[in-house]
Amino acid sequence: MPKDPVCGQYVPATTPYKLEIEGEIYYFCSAACAEEYENNAEDYVDEAVAEKPGVED
Ligand SMILES: [Zn+2]
Repeated sequence: MPKDPVCGQYVPATTPYKLEIEGEIYYFCSAACAEEYENNAEDYVDEAVAEKPGVED
């Protein structure tokens, strides 16, 4: 089941709230989450590509 990247809950793939961004389809629980993602996509990048270079402990 796809996961809503905004609120983190699982949503059915049949949800009408989805966005296709750069060939990836993202599923949302509500229009509000889809809108939030669209407006702040950079804040919700996939964790796999969210590594911040130059951050050292
Ligand atoms: Zn949501």
